Amino acid sequence: MLSEAAGRYLLKIYEMNSPITPKTLAEKMGVSRPTAFETIKKLEKCGFLEKEGKKYQLTDKGEHEAKRLIRNHRIIETLLYNTGIDLSEACACATKIQGLIEDSIVEKIGDYLGNPKFCPHGKPIPKEEST
Ligand SMILES: [Zn+2]
Repeated sequence: MLSEAAGRYLLKIYEMNSPITPKTLAEKMGVSRPTAFETIKKLEKCGFLEKEGKKYQLTDKGEHEAKRLIRNHRIIETLLYNTGIDLSEACACATKIQGLIEDSIVEKIGDYLGNPKFCPHGKPIPKEEST
């Protein structure tokens, strides 16, 4: 299970959509290079990143995990938003629990919501993928 911080790095790498170095990731995340490198090593150990020359890129497993986190985030956020919670608050809360919540629970919430295609930000909710 990824920590919240490691999950945020993974999503950032997914968003950047190109191989990264500790330097580029550190700049994007606004952290020091050693901090970025430490997380890269952690993600590599989990099999989410692989080294390609001097750069690191997402593996299929890493991409799958990023999509899973995005899906969890957007479904949780939609649920919270629907209850009347502020979108920014719903988003912040979803960020905290997106990596911790069981997929099966997210699926139930998705069904309950009528399987929305977009989150309240208007961003697409990725479909569930089997591993
Ligand atoms: Zn959000």
